[in-house]
Amino acid sequence: MIIVMKPKTEKEKIEKIKNKMVSLGCGIHESKGENYHLIGLVGDTSRIDRSQIQANRSVEKVIIVQEPYKKANRLFHPQETVVKIGNKEIGGNRFSVIAGPCSVESEEQIVGIAEEIKKSGASFLRGGAYKPRTSPYSFQGLRDEGLELLKIAREKTDLPIVTELMSPHKIEKFVEDVDVIQIGARNMQNFDLLKEIGKTDKPILLKRGMSATIEELLMAAEYIMSEGNEKVILCERGIRTFEKYTRNTLDLSAIPVIKKYSHLPVIVDPSHAGGLWWLVEPLAKAALVAGADGLMVEVHNDPANAKCDGEQSIKPERFKSLMDKLKKLGKIENREV
Ligand code: PEP
Ligand code: MN
Repeated sequence: MIIVMKPKTEKEKIEKIKNKMVSLGCGIHESKGENYHLIGLVGDTSRIDRSQIQANRSVEKVIIVQEPYKKANRLFHPQETVVKIGNKEIGGNRFSVIAGPCSVESEEQIVGIAEEIKKSGASFLRGGAYKPRTSPYSFQGLRDEGLELLKIAREKTDLPIVTELMSPHKIEKFVEDVDVIQIGARNMQNFDLLKEIGKTDKPILLKRGMSATIEELLMAAEYIMSEGNEKVILCERGIRTFEKYTRNTLDLSAIPVIKKYSHLPVIVDPSHAGGLWWLVEPLAKAALVAGADGLMVEVHNDPANAKCDGEQSIKPERFKSLMDKLKKLGKIENREV
């Protein structure tokens, strides 16, 4: 961080700012000219409040030279993070696929889908038990019963389960019952929730907020990591734009950008990104080629009667054909699908 002082600022005012920065644990590197005075801050500046410095009337501007996230930053952790989930992993050379319905609806439904996606090569089962719905009148999920059904599906297929947590009150139960805790787009900046899951050692799947920048996503990961939990998997799931033909706009560039600035694995959710079943395959293929570490895909046995997101869910047969195509593509890209 560089503090640019206003020209002709009195010495005492400059000394005051320097002393404050030193008291906050920063080293100082100064550069002076006839018409400028720069104070460079050296060391860990993560606890420095930029806007507070900016509020000082003698300060012209504050220039950020390093990203505000530290633990999620590749600069301090050059090797890729691989998150271990039982005997499976997300990150590294493998392209891992999480699949399953938007919501758990019945034992027959979740077990049936789990068996099918496993046969096709999925590594994890997803299914919402607590659903974050825009309308309070829409299906809210089977809640605790949904978690029980996911556990039955895991028992029968050995697929680890991924499901969304919405409330800090349920953390203990989720830690006990699930393999990966999903934080949905709507809770990406629920900072109290992020801090609480940061105190657990469960792998976290953190989805990008619908209007969140990449830096905000990485800062959300930083919240979790700063509490001690470094097992964070990021998920690009489309962002809001002016486009209306798709539910969201898949930000493909987020994948190489996140890979450049962070060591955390990043997967893509083509289902929520496009919002339409026929967009899943092209977006999934693009994600693999762009360097994503995997996918989260909604699969439903009867999309026309799904309780949630049927229009963007693919049937198990189409999922199989998608996996076959991704396996072929993986060979070209040197990725293990
Ligand atoms: C989901 O994965 O079921 C979901 C609700 O996704 P998002 O949080 O990305 O909208
Ligand atoms: Mn959904």
